[in-house]
Amino acid sequence: MTYIPAANRYENMKYRRCGNSGLKLSAFSLGLWHNFGYNSNFENSRNLIKTAFDNGITHFDLANNYGPPPGSAEECMGRILKLDFKNYRDEMIISSKAGYTMWDGPYGDWGSKKYLVSSLDQSLKRMDLDYVDIFYHHRPDPETPLEETMAALNLIVQQGKALYVGISNYRPAEAAKAIQLLKEMGTPCLIHQPKYSMFERWVEDGLLDLLGKEQVGCIPFSPLAQGLLTDKYLNGIPADSRVATSGQFLKADHITPERIEKIVALNKIAQQRGQKLAQMALAWLLRDERITSVLIGSSKPEQITDSIKALDNIIFSKEELDTINQILK
Ligand code: NDP
Repeated sequence: MTYIPAANRYENMKYRRCGNSGLKLSAFSLGLWHNFGYNSNFENSRNLIKTAFDNGITHFDLANNYGPPPGSAEECMGRILKLDFKNYRDEMIISSKAGYTMWDGPYGDWGSKKYLVSSLDQSLKRMDLDYVDIFYHHRPDPETPLEETMAALNLIVQQGKALYVGISNYRPAEAAKAIQLLKEMGTPCLIHQPKYSMFERWVEDGLLDLLGKEQVGCIPFSPLAQGLLTDKYLNGIPADSRVATSGQFLKADHITPERIEKIVALNKIAQQRGQKLAQMALAWLLRDERITSVLIGSSKPEQITDSIKALDNIIFSKEELDTINQILK
């Protein structure tokens, strides 16, 4: 059956300007790191993208290596785009990245111009796209001169293979240098993608201030700490959870008694706010206007509709923030 997106899809979502660019992103973006590989149920993957789009999520985040196996999430997205979104490409922001190990030999990893340019060519083929909207360098490369990596991003934009570029996992000092280099080349850094959640707050130590000052967007990944910041692990490990089904990146031994104690305490505050813990954890990120969009993952369509309800209340009292800080200490 032909997919017809919800007519009211733009009514409830909020859109935030990405730094000082012309681009606005939906307050939530959907990532395809998990649940889009060869071992995932294709109809479920397809429903995840449709549910997101029906609810105003315009931004879909990929990388060359998402799967498993690497490349399969982009292939899956390519199939979904062809089946359901042929008429909606101009309403979508599609991102990809290169920077982690992708293929054997010296040219399939890190940050050389050789790797970035050829990897993006491969990504475009897998998704059957002419261009991506945002292309990221996925992690800093300690050996390649930053000038070369940023020049590769600039080249990719000049070639029309990406409209905007970003960086991910860069610490404040290297991010500052990358932002400056890109500015000098005339291809501004649109956005930074760091790991940021209640459980992982390094960005508060300089990065957010830098991005605010430079007017570069910020899109935190793993905002629910891969699912820990929900109520799902309060009574053991559910069979359909990431720990049980994947276990590669989020392992059972991450769920320590100290963690559970914090989750229980946070869950109580969420309840007092009339939110689920997942919603409060997402709202807590969005309360800061320097956060352009929060990059969620989902294994089920209902999680998307559940998570975006965070937008109903992103205001925190000083007392709530203090209590949360106390719990997270
Ligand atoms: P999250 O922290 O949002 O974790 C997502 C997981 O949390 C889901 O798969 C699901 O787990 C659970 N979940 C989500 N919503 C709910 C809900 N409402 N109620 C209960 N459980 C929920 O993000 P991810 O770790 O998946 O990362 C998101 C995206 O960030 C990735 O897809 C990728 O695009 C990007 N990313 C970027 C990286 C980088 O280096 N730049 C690195 C990692 C991710 P379950 O399976 O248990 O149901």
